[in-house]
Amino acid sequence: MRRPASLPLVLAAVLLVLGCGARPESAEIDPGAAPVAPVERAWPVMGTMLRVVVWQPDGDAALPVLREVRRAVTAVDSLMSNYRADSDVSRIGAAAGSGAWTPVSAETLEVLEAALDHARSSGGAFDPTVGPVVDVWGFYRERGAMPSTGALDSARALVGWQHVEVDRAQRRVRLPRAGMQLDFGAIAKGYAVDLALEAAARAGAERVMVDLGGNIGVLGDAPAGGAWPLGLRHPREQRPFAVVDVDTGAIATSGDYERYFVHQGIRYAHVVDPRTGWPVRGVASVSVLAPTGLTSDVLSTTLFVLGPERGCAEVATLPGVAAVWVLPPSPGAEAAPLRAVVGGELAGRVELAADVDAAICPAIDG
Ligand code: AMP
Ligand code: MG
Repeated sequence: MRRPASLPLVLAAVLLVLGCGARPESAEIDPGAAPVAPVERAWPVMGTMLRVVVWQPDGDAALPVLREVRRAVTAVDSLMSNYRADSDVSRIGAAAGSGAWTPVSAETLEVLEAALDHARSSGGAFDPTVGPVVDVWGFYRERGAMPSTGALDSARALVGWQHVEVDRAQRRVRLPRAGMQLDFGAIAKGYAVDLALEAAARAGAERVMVDLGGNIGVLGDAPAGGAWPLGLRHPREQRPFAVVDVDTGAIATSGDYERYFVHQGIRYAHVVDPRTGWPVRGVASVSVLAPTGLTSDVLSTTLFVLGPERGCAEVATLPGVAAVWVLPPSPGAEAAPLRAVVGGELAGRVELAADVDAAICPAIDG
């Protein structure tokens, strides 16, 4: 959502549905029934690609589903994009420091309140006021660049979820200091997937997969019956490195390959630690299976910031979650096996490729 339209679009195939029928244990479909051909469409939206696949016995019935899914995602973009001056998020930022309240939609309020809850519970690792820092590193523009110390300090001084003022009764929001700016880039796509699936169900869909730039949600059983075997994108190669069985809930992936620049041999990517103002290093990607799209999106970013050491303790407290950290290759060891850490109550749903060097989150005492 925050990527200018002129930037090359992220490859849509962040997650792939793998081999239908490859899992005999989930083959519940009547072998006599005619297979339903999927109808698939893709559109650019929210700075990425929206890919929707619909399986309907009557092919024509797929079209209203596709239309409603696209409409739901576009509506979220128009409320929450930093690239649209008239979005709720941009208008809140434009009024920052003026003392004026900005009236917002119920959807924006819902996402902001969820974001503030996660900011609180993550100790600020996730922070929807991180906008000025993301901006100073150039991640809203085509080319990122190392900021000066002064510019970084000024931007960091404008970050702080505790300062956001929410008037729930009158549905309005205020930021106290000029220059403060909200950024829903780590939460709005997951929320849009939730709304898209609700819209698909209302439009009569029985089986749908929505992939919004690596935020994947599913409705109904997989085409082969049972859970959907979804592939996780390898952060350095065009192939999945793991398969996760998803029945309910959604998957999101945060990656250091999405928006980044390299300075003096070091990769600086778009997930930043709001407390230091620096892009996070030491993690290549984090994929999270969680009960909703919004939660999986927030957690993928939060666990990216926390890293596996602190993140393993965090996921141990969360019901219905699986998390997979991929560590970046050490310099000079790019050909070494991919290193991954897996944790969470649903860690058993994650099946890593044979060539992945895997570790399990340590058990937490008490
Ligand atoms: P995702 O790809 O879901 O991890 O979202 C990354 C985007 O979220 C970035 O491009 C920023 O716009 C924003 N962002 C970066 N770091 C954070 C953070 N620590 N907390 C909240 N939003 C962030
Ligand atoms: Mg996210």
